[in-house]
Amino acid sequence: MNNQVGAGGIELTGPTDGEHYHQAEITSVYPLTPDEKLYQIQIIDPVARRDFAFQAGQFVMLELPGIGEAPFSISSAPSRRGDLELCIRAVGNLSKFLDRVERGTRVGISGPYGSSFPVEAMVGGDVIFVAGGLGIVPLRSPLAVVLENRSRYGLVDLVYGAKSPAELLFTYQYQGWQQFDVNLGITVDRPDEAWVGASGLITGLLERQLAGRDLAHRTSAIVCGPPVMFKFVCDLLIRAGMPMQRIFVSLERRMHCGRGKCCRCNIGSTYTCKQGPVFDYWTVMNLKEAI
Ligand SMILES: Cc1cc2nc3c(=O)[nH]c(=O)nc-3n(C[C@H](O)[C@H](O)[C@H](O)COP(=O)(O)OP(=O)(O)OC[C@H]3O[C@@H](n4cnc5c(N)ncnc54)[C@H](O)[C@@H]3O)c2cc1C
Repeated sequence: MNNQVGAGGIELTGPTDGEHYHQAEITSVYPLTPDEKLYQIQIIDPVARRDFAFQAGQFVMLELPGIGEAPFSISSAPSRRGDLELCIRAVGNLSKFLDRVERGTRVGISGPYGSSFPVEAMVGGDVIFVAGGLGIVPLRSPLAVVLENRSRYGLVDLVYGAKSPAELLFTYQYQGWQQFDVNLGITVDRPDEAWVGASGLITGLLERQLAGRDLAHRTSAIVCGPPVMFKFVCDLLIRAGMPMQRIFVSLERRMHCGRGKCCRCNIGSTYTCKQGPVFDYWTVMNLKEAI
C-alpha cells in the first residue's frame, strides 16, 4: 500500500499490490447507447467471488482469451464484491470484440488495481459528483457507496454532461438516484428537438446548481471526465471556495496498460496508473502537465 495525501487533505487508499487472476463469466450484456454496453460479470469460484474486495474508483484488467486484455473501471458498488459491472465503449480491437460477445462468455479478471475515492473520509459532509461522458462509469461506484449509506452524508449533488441526449448513460437510474435525495443536474452540448433539460457546458450548470453554497468547510468533490473538463470544473470549484485537497479526480484517460508496464502514462517520475488513477487535485497540480 502506498498512501498519498495533499497538504491538509483526505488520505487516499494506495494502489493494490499483487496479481489476482480469476475466471469469470459475462452474465448479462445490456446496451446503454449505440456505442456503450453494460456488462455484468461474475467471478466463477464462489469463494473468490465472495472474497473479491475492491474500493470505489479502482479498476480491473479484463482478458478476452485469445484477443487481449485492457483496464476497465469497476462501475458497481463495492458491496457487490465479485459481481462486477463494467461499462465499455466499443472503440478498438478488444472493445469491439467485446461488443459482439454474448451472455455466458468466459473472461479473465485480474485486480483490483489502483487508488480509490476516499468516500469514508467524506462521511458527515456534502459530496458533489461531476461527470463528463464516460466519466460517469467510475463515478457510479462511489455514488453507490454514498447512496447505500445515505444518512451518513449531507447534501449530494450529481452534475453530468454528455455531448447529446443519445449519449447519456444510465438514464434508467436517474429517477432512482433522485429518490435518494440526489440533486441531479443533466446537461447536453447538442440538444435535439425532444430534449427539455439543460443544454451547454457542465460548468454552466454546475455554477447554477451551486450558487450561494459554502463549499469551503464540509464539501468534497469527485470529478471524472475528459482532461479538458477537469481543469474548468476544478477551477470553478476552487473559485467557489473548495480546497484543492477535497477535490478528487480520476486520471484514467491518460493511461494505457494500467499496470506501470508500457511507460505511456508517466508524468515525470510518477506513473499515473501505479499511483492513480485517483488523485486529489492538489497532487495533480503538482504533477506537471497532468491536465
Ligand atoms: C484505468 C483505466 C480505466 C478504464 N476504464 C474504462 C471503462 O470503464 N470503459 C471503457 O470503455 N474504457 C475504459 N478504459 C479504456 C480501455 O482500457 C481501452 O483502452 C479501450 O477500451 C480501448 O481498447 P481497445 O483494445 O478496444 O482499443 P485499441 O485497439 O487499443 O484502439 C484504441 C483506439 O481507440 C481510440 N480510443 C481509445 N479509447 C477511446 C475512447 N474512450 N473514446 C474514443 N476513442 C478511444 C484510440 O485513440 C485508438 O485509436 C480505461 C482505461 C484505463 C487505463
